[in-house]
Amino acid sequence: MKEKLYNIPLNDAADAGDECPLCYAERDMERKIMDFTLGNQSSYMERDIRAMTDKEGFCQRHFKAMFDYQNALGNAWILSTHLREVQKEMNAAMAKHETGGKPSMLAKFRKGGQDTAAEDSVAQWVKGRQGSCFICRQEEQARSRMIDIFFEMWHKDSAFRAKITGGKGFCLPHFGELCEAARTKLSDSEKQEFYDAMFRLMQDNMQRMIGDVDWMIEKYDYQNQDKPWKDSKDALQRSMQKLQGGYPADPAYRMKK
Ligand SMILES: [Zn+2]
Ligand SMILES: [Zn+2]
Repeated sequence: MKEKLYNIPLNDAADAGDECPLCYAERDMERKIMDFTLGNQSSYMERDIRAMTDKEGFCQRHFKAMFDYQNALGNAWILSTHLREVQKEMNAAMAKHETGGKPSMLAKFRKGGQDTAAEDSVAQWVKGRQGSCFICRQEEQARSRMIDIFFEMWHKDSAFRAKITGGKGFCLPHFGELCEAARTKLSDSEKQEFYDAMFRLMQDNMQRMIGDVDWMIEKYDYQNQDKPWKDSKDALQRSMQKLQGGYPADPAYRMKK
């Protein structure tokens, strides 16, 4: 299977001064993966790539991203063979389907009184399909490499470490991922130092975020209309990023024409 290894420039991400450097790096990765999947190099016309997209398909979020990317012909090529693959699977799932009556009392008893209708074999096949995505899988692999690279740099690059500890912290999802990964990637003494630094960083920056949103509200008071915005103009998208990651104010990512 031909997989692409993406360069993950965490130094650039730390220099960007965003609410979360890992979100910054992740957005960069996500765009490269979109370009790879549907971009000008037409990898979707290569047989081995198409075999993967035929089998894995895409989740709802990534179909939306693919639609917004605006490569209609590329999407059509991908869909024409993927639909056929799904049709084949669907027919096979239906052929194997056993149409029983209602679940027996004994089956209900074993399941603790739960309705067993959710275990219909065709429904299970559909669920498996919904959980399968060519782009999600690539993103997950890139994300786990990003966390590895973060800790490698944290170990050996004191300038990077200084940028991180002097930065704006992380979004909560990435902060959680770092806390989890630190358990296995750092020694006991390194852990103490890491968690102390990260907790202080997150506390300080959460407080800063609250101040930015509060000032935004104050600015809507006519008495403050001539006062400066300070850092509050984009406080909404930055708070949303701080809480759940991502870039809510970003326009859809499109194909370079
Ligand atoms: Zn983040
Ligand atoms: Zn997906």
